[in-house]
Amino acid sequence: MKDNICAEPIHRQLKLMSDGSVSSYEMVGHFIDAIERINPKINGYIAVKADYALARAKEIDSRRDSNEALGPLAGIPIAIKDNICTKGFETTCSSNILRSFVPPYNAYVVERFQDADAIILGKSNMDEFAMGSSTETSCFGPTVNPWLQDRVSGGSSGGAAAIVAADMASGALGSDTGGSIRQPAAFCGVVGMKPTYGRVSRFGLVAYASSLDQIGPVTKDVTDCALLLSVISGRDEKDSTSRDIEVPDYNKSLTCDIKGIRVGRPKEYFIGGLDSQVACHIDTVFGILGQAGADVEEVSLPHTDYAISAYYLIATAEASSNLARYDGVKYGIRDSQYRDLRSMYRSTRKKGFGSEVKRRIMLGTYALSSGYYDAYYLKAQKARTLIKRDFDIAFKDHDVLITPTTPTPAFKLGENISDPLQMYLNDIYTISANLAGVPAISIPCGFTKDGLPVGVQILGRPFEEGVVLKLAYALEQAMDLKRPLRFWEKGSPG
Ligand code: GLN
Repeated sequence: MKDNICAEPIHRQLKLMSDGSVSSYEMVGHFIDAIERINPKINGYIAVKADYALARAKEIDSRRDSNEALGPLAGIPIAIKDNICTKGFETTCSSNILRSFVPPYNAYVVERFQDADAIILGKSNMDEFAMGSSTETSCFGPTVNPWLQDRVSGGSSGGAAAIVAADMASGALGSDTGGSIRQPAAFCGVVGMKPTYGRVSRFGLVAYASSLDQIGPVTKDVTDCALLLSVISGRDEKDSTSRDIEVPDYNKSLTCDIKGIRVGRPKEYFIGGLDSQVACHIDTVFGILGQAGADVEEVSLPHTDYAISAYYLIATAEASSNLARYDGVKYGIRDSQYRDLRSMYRSTRKKGFGSEVKRRIMLGTYALSSGYYDAYYLKAQKARTLIKRDFDIAFKDHDVLITPTTPTPAFKLGENISDPLQMYLNDIYTISANLAGVPAISIPCGFTKDGLPVGVQILGRPFEEGVVLKLAYALEQAMDLKRPLRFWEKGSPG
């Protein structure tokens, strides 16, 4: 059991620590060994805090030995996406412009983890400033999919999902603006949840598109997801968009009784472009739910077609404003080749940002510029309202909606990177949840013939994460998936 400790979910690791089968120090040691062996193959971590993590584990063990009260995640090592501020540890957003940035404070969620006695093990790779769907825009290079070496891990939280799938941390925190937690979770065969907008404080999350961004858990199973969500949820004075709505004990939602639950199947999500193996696994999910007594019914989200255009206008507009602060003065690098202030701004931004980030800044600035604002930005906001209304109507008669998380399994490294439109289209099933602000989870629901994971997405009403988790849990228990080997376990060289 101890040898395999890294493969256990958090709720089992907590039991093993509390009954004395393993110490946090030993466990963190195993994780560090795993990182040394596996991280060079997949590039999930961009920074590992081994000494810090071991010291903290020792401290938590000694508090346990002296019977002190411990937090709900005592001794559990977690990876943090590199756009979430960690005091004293680099927070680069996988961008050259922030390579030297060390935040003077912790994000709210990091504080909550510290209070819960979790251990920050390292920072995970991501697309630059969370802009991307494959982790290929990272200045540190892409994260490779643990199941198939020539595939992407998804993005932008590809590092977080791959780390959890590769047993290199017990769990992770990602951020999701248009699918960045759920899509990599689906591609890597783990659980990932985007909470309701306002459920989790964004204080200390480096902003990409502030009206869409949310932080959420990436875990091995639904029980762990409920556990992490309970720790990070709630009102924070430092984020005015975080809501003062009671946080239920999500653990209590985890029952298999889903009889009579009303499930909607949005017809616009089952059209051309959906991979046949993905479609087949999602059909199986509906079959399982029907057998468990859920009422499955077709619903319509008629404005789904506008989601990609609306999202890529709103997200880029907000990004162009949020990224204006990287000017070589306040944060990160400053290029040394300049004549005056303007040329310093220009050369710093030219050298500091990668091409996808530049593309988004230009798109967003254009959409906000006078003369185009009404035609693009305002129109996108109107489409967003219609998309939100679609969900309000669908949720009148349905408790949850179920869709594929992604149209295809993980695509090949390099396949979409030179075709931005193709890359953006990949987000078709995830972005509406951000535009509408509703909670959504992705859980694994099968593997393709090539051994690649497939994810199913469950969406719920605002602040009804408990209902989403309940259905996810019931489904997870009913499926009992058998996982294939990860690529380094297949006996091939390396
Ligand atoms: N792929 C989407 C984008 O590039 C979503 C990214 C995210 O959720 N951070 O904008």
